[in-house]
Amino acid sequence: MAILHEVLQHNAAWVAERNRPLSKEPHKRVIIFTCMDTRLVDFLEPALGLKRGDAQMIKNAGNTLVDAGGGVVRSLVVAIHGLACEEVFVIGHRDCGMAQIDKDALRRAMVDSGVPEEAINALRPSLGEWLGGFHDPLGNVERVVTMLRQNPLIPKAVPIHGLMFDPASGALQVLVDGYTKLAAGQTLPPHVGRL
Ligand SMILES: [Zn+2]
Repeated sequence: MAILHEVLQHNAAWVAERNRPLSKEPHKRVIIFTCMDTRLVDFLEPALGLKRGDAQMIKNAGNTLVDAGGGVVRSLVVAIHGLACEEVFVIGHRDCGMAQIDKDALRRAMVDSGVPEEAINALRPSLGEWLGGFHDPLGNVERVVTMLRQNPLIPKAVPIHGLMFDPASGALQVLVDGYTKLAAGQTLPPHVGRL
């Protein structure tokens, strides 16, 4: 087939896909909580078989959880109770840049940019405690899964998986299989996530 015809054929299929109305509720009813690393953009999703409209994506630096009632947990609460999500995937990755950030160098850069020392000192958890969690990316994923599992805002029937992703090969490794942590017979009531 001539390249022009290939391009036009692809374009017609692509436009048809764009015109398909997408629900705010994710097709696959899953939430991905992962790192903001640029290498994961447009790479993690295809590696997981996820397309636009399939999943809720939550990202931050190093996919860490510093506050049991903070923004990440609140996003999970809305996704589960308001947008019909039924499973959570916490996905860390190899070679995370957050693991190499030195707290003293970061503090110096902030001060050099005019950030008041008092504002840095007021951070809770502190800069050092926060960055300390990144030196063990596997342990961080397991810790986040445990924190979410224990969070009373998240129903016990929601499986919470912990995985590591290789940003070079795209391979996944399971650290925590959330299905094994569910008590027998636990299911979400039909109204959960379908307000
Ligand atoms: Zn990262």
